[in-house]
Amino acid sequence: MHGISGPNNQAKAGKVKAYRCGHVGRLTSNGACPECRAKYDAAYYETNKTKITSRAIQWNLDNKDKRKEICQRSYEKNKAKILQKAKEKRQAEPAKELAKCRARQTSQIQRMPKWADKKAIEAFYELARQKTKETGIPHHVDHVIPLRGKSVSGFHVESNLRVITSAENLSKGAKLPDTMAP
Ligand SMILES: [Zn+2]
Repeated sequence: MHGISGPNNQAKAGKVKAYRCGHVGRLTSNGACPECRAKYDAAYYETNKTKITSRAIQWNLDNKDKRKEICQRSYEKNKAKILQKAKEKRQAEPAKELAKCRARQTSQIQRMPKWADKKAIEAFYELARQKTKETGIPHHVDHVIPLRGKSVSGFHVESNLRVITSAENLSKGAKLPDTMAP
């Protein structure tokens, strides 16, 4: 009798255990109740939320390139799955997804004053469509000053629009153009 292989050392997926705390749950390799552990983790997060979040934000700021690379790699790796999930979501909850889409559009409308020239705005979208067709390169209508910028927010008006390639648009992010930067 070696005496070292108790039931706790033979944790197997699917096995259930009655823990001393009274919970019945999945048998874990370290013998800790998963339900209590989850409660503990949640409570820890709740008390240290600000610290945890600000630390994560700081890490992201300090490691912008690394973060971008990690995101990119994870997206490429899971691209098929991500796209499939998005499609399933649209099919399962079309109303919810439509509402999200409308919310984005509404925030655009909120940035659209009454004096905006709708016809002139439409012309930019038409131009983007034409350029895309002519060149084969996707063109977007871009807000020179972003609608939700960090320091200032632009309007959805003709004087704040321009047509650029989607590549230019993506590399711009939500930054202000050089001429506008303080
Ligand atoms: Zn427990």
